[in-house]
Amino acid sequence: MADASQPNGRRFDQLAHKPDEINKFWRNANFFFDRVYQTMGLDPLYRAYLSSPKRVLTVSCPVRMDNGSIQVFTGYRVQHNNARGPFKGGLRFDTEVDRDEVMALAMLQTWKNALVELPYGGAKGGVVCDVKKLSLNEKEALTRRYTAEIMPVIGPFDDIPAPDLGTDSQVMAWMLDTYSMMTGRQALSVVTGKPVALGGSCGREEATGRGVMYVLKRFMEVTQHRSLEGMKIAVQGFGQVGFHASRLLDELGAQVIAISDKFGGIFNENGIDIESAGQYYRENGQLTDYPEGDAISNEELLTCECDVLIPAARENTIDSTIAPHIQAKIVVEAANGPTTPEADQILCEQGVTVLPDILANAGGVTVSYFEWVQGLDNYFWDLDRVRAELQRVMNRAFDTVNAKADESDCDYRTAAYTIAVGRVAEAVRLKGIFP
Ligand code: NAD
Repeated sequence: MADASQPNGRRFDQLAHKPDEINKFWRNANFFFDRVYQTMGLDPLYRAYLSSPKRVLTVSCPVRMDNGSIQVFTGYRVQHNNARGPFKGGLRFDTEVDRDEVMALAMLQTWKNALVELPYGGAKGGVVCDVKKLSLNEKEALTRRYTAEIMPVIGPFDDIPAPDLGTDSQVMAWMLDTYSMMTGRQALSVVTGKPVALGGSCGREEATGRGVMYVLKRFMEVTQHRSLEGMKIAVQGFGQVGFHASRLLDELGAQVIAISDKFGGIFNENGIDIESAGQYYRENGQLTDYPEGDAISNEELLTCECDVLIPAARENTIDSTIAPHIQAKIVVEAANGPTTPEADQILCEQGVTVLPDILANAGGVTVSYFEWVQGLDNYFWDLDRVRAELQRVMNRAFDTVNAKADESDCDYRTAAYTIAVGRVAEAVRLKGIFP
């Protein structure tokens, strides 16, 4: 069990002037957890238990590459906590994956699943690889070998992976097939985010972006008494989440004026044609040289003049150097962990409203839950039902967080963490510690 005094024992004011030191995702995740834990009056016995993952699996995945050579990839599956149900969380293929990153993502997943009241614990997986440089065959071989290596810890009632950065429904289809071949039986619900033709749920691909849209829409209606019509929005990251969030906000009359990927972005003050930019991105794998706008850097996107900033790329993109220059009054965290604790404090002092990741991007895992339920039932819903149920869950989660923020006079992240950590701590308390 972890030492309860580290890193949780450190206070924000001790860290505030050392941005490099706190710009570590795992430490940041612990910081946000610890901040609410200390104020909630929960039994300190559970602090170390909840701040460390239950299981960290590291695997080596040898893959025969197209040129005949063997390359060994490192992968992880981290299971943070399962007090509320089976472990659940995405799988990331990315060059920057490391053990600490996956541990942080698994912890965030525990809080997120509790916040939207899903009967799951939290987990995350990752493989260190440059996915864009792998051929389709190499990607399939890597996925299958990784699945075989983590077989002992996954299963429809044990741990259920889903897509994340660098993975998609095809990767889930290979995982499903590998699991089914190795166990000798079909187990549709061992992964979610599968293609619809293999028992996936309709509406899963757009779900995270749609959830982002529902949360922002609800926030505007409930607290500002207005619609999204005419609001200027900048979106960092134009993958599965960023694209669908942009598309759906555009449909509601908002103007998406800036989008980006890891190579840079596009700015157009009259609004970007999202369908056309999406097609260009799919065909070229990046937005570079997209003709209908001015090229900008990611820093310029984050600090451009807009009403709403949506980081939808990866963790730590809003740090203490960027935060003072952000002009948006609302930040919606579509990515996991995009804001460092120090940047979060700066934004708070600047009066910026931050709709936190564990609330804003919970639409993906919510429809994953619907998919899991449909697979277990062998009864599949239509798109209208998926969207209506998703909206109900996201609105309920926002309303609960909003009420908590009002009641405790605190920011949305503190409110969301207080609710989520409280639910997990209560489940741990009821179950007790075995043996
Ligand atoms: P994706 O791989 O489909 O797209 C990622 C996008 O971000 C790409 O456009 C990529 O070029 C860009 N990007 C990567 N690094 C960047 C950087 N340093 N600066 C700017 N852009 C960068 O991934 P995704 O599924 O859209 O996930 C995006 C984020 O949303 C991640 O933080 C992920 O954990 C989170 N998320 C995803 C889901 C989901 O259902 N896919 C659910 C919840 C949260």
